[in-house]
Amino acid sequence: MSSTSTAPALRFERVANEHPSSTAERAEVHANPGFGKHFTDHMVAIDWTIDEGWHDARVVPYGPLQLDPAASVLHYGQEIFEGLKAFRHADGSIHTFRPERNAARMQHSAARLALPELPTTDFIESLRQLVAVDGDWVPSAPETSLYLRPFMISNESFLGVRAAERVAYYVIASPAGPYFQGGVAPVKIWLTTRYARSGPGGTGAAKCGGNYAASLLPQKEAQANGCSQVLFLDGATETMVEELGGMNIFFVHRDGSIVTPALTGTILEGVTRESIVQLARDAGHQVTERTVTIDEWREEAASGEITEVFACGTAASVTPISQVVSESFTIGDADAPAGTVTMELRQALTDIQYGRAADTHGWMTRLDA
Ligand SMILES: *Cc1c(COP(=O)(O)O)cnc(C)c1O
Repeated sequence: MSSTSTAPALRFERVANEHPSSTAERAEVHANPGFGKHFTDHMVAIDWTIDEGWHDARVVPYGPLQLDPAASVLHYGQEIFEGLKAFRHADGSIHTFRPERNAARMQHSAARLALPELPTTDFIESLRQLVAVDGDWVPSAPETSLYLRPFMISNESFLGVRAAERVAYYVIASPAGPYFQGGVAPVKIWLTTRYARSGPGGTGAAKCGGNYAASLLPQKEAQANGCSQVLFLDGATETMVEELGGMNIFFVHRDGSIVTPALTGTILEGVTRESIVQLARDAGHQVTERTVTIDEWREEAASGEITEVFACGTAASVTPISQVVSESFTIGDADAPAGTVTMELRQALTDIQYGRAADTHGWMTRLDA
């Protein structure tokens, strides 16, 4: 269960897909990729057992997994995942954004879910291996990318309740179109007062499927109320703003200062969040990580002290929030346009990711060389 970088890197075997997609089929997907609908020709798989550790690393044709019906992931939900993107730069090269942060987060998630930690070098190598065979799947149109989805499941066949002694790690990949068709549009979000996604001592800071399972009912509630995302307060006091179902949140104040909820152990630590904090500081904004209550948001939005609110995450980058809707009140104006600071930060982030701006923090890792 060591995550030291001195561990010998895994060697990957390669089994080619004998029926890969044609250039025409790929072009058709690239013309309208959507999100998470189409998958590349291959996937990475690595096995782990308590006796052998990580072994049998391989790139194989994309296809169904064989699972025993008693596999513990199906019963106790021992599952974690990551999400990051591969971007094609103007010269054709392929780069990803801060993969070592995703590797570290997956190790933290693994520790919380009693799963084994995959060393950072092997995590990044698994991405390289997939891009080496499926690089043609990385689209090149503006604002497109190849979404990489590493995940880990317990696949020991045993119905007793304990940490699995047999685990598998996979990486699959899916071309992603521009999140906002026809330009960035502010979103309305639904404040759930009925449900929490995490609580003190729980798994809120781990990227695990179970957290998402808990968010799907309030997500349905959001959609029924004309909103695209759910906003969660802290589960213990129901006063503090935490995050959206899959995105972190930021507040821009009248004087240009920026506030984001401090990481309390119940909030997922976004790589985008951490990067936006840095980029905002680079741009001269004072950034504070602290408690933000929902009452403060209501009052300061009404008084004009809070001028912009946005959410951020890998899938949608930076997303302006126009309005919060709850059972008893609303905050903000549904027709509010995207804020200036919001759009500047979005631009600064995507310029680095797509190679249009200098990578001054050393955030990009080339995957195809
Ligand atoms: C993945 C995720 C985020 C965003 O993290 P990024 O690393 O920025 O993509 C935020 N909140 C939750 C609950 C998440 O699962």
